[in-house]
Amino acid sequence: MPRCRQCEGPVDGIAVALNLKIVSRQATEFLCLRCLAETFRTTEEALLEAADRYRRAGCILFPPLPPSGHSSAPGGGVSRG
Ligand SMILES: [Zn+2]
Repeated sequence: MPRCRQCEGPVDGIAVALNLKIVSRQATEFLCLRCLAETFRTTEEALLEAADRYRRAGCILFPPLPPSGHSSAPGGGVSRG
């Protein structure tokens, strides 16, 4: 996990994606959610909401949303060739 270049806190996948989305697609250093919020004079909640919208829109920068409404079947695929 990358470290925030400002406070050296951990930067999770969502925060990394937000950096790429709203700072620079070429970013190689990242800000954590809190420092991003400070930099853009917004709140962590607002950033997470924005991230959620991007994810729902299928933005490839963000980790995919976990599948909902599906129950995983026990066992697994049995396929032999
Ligand atoms: Zn930080």
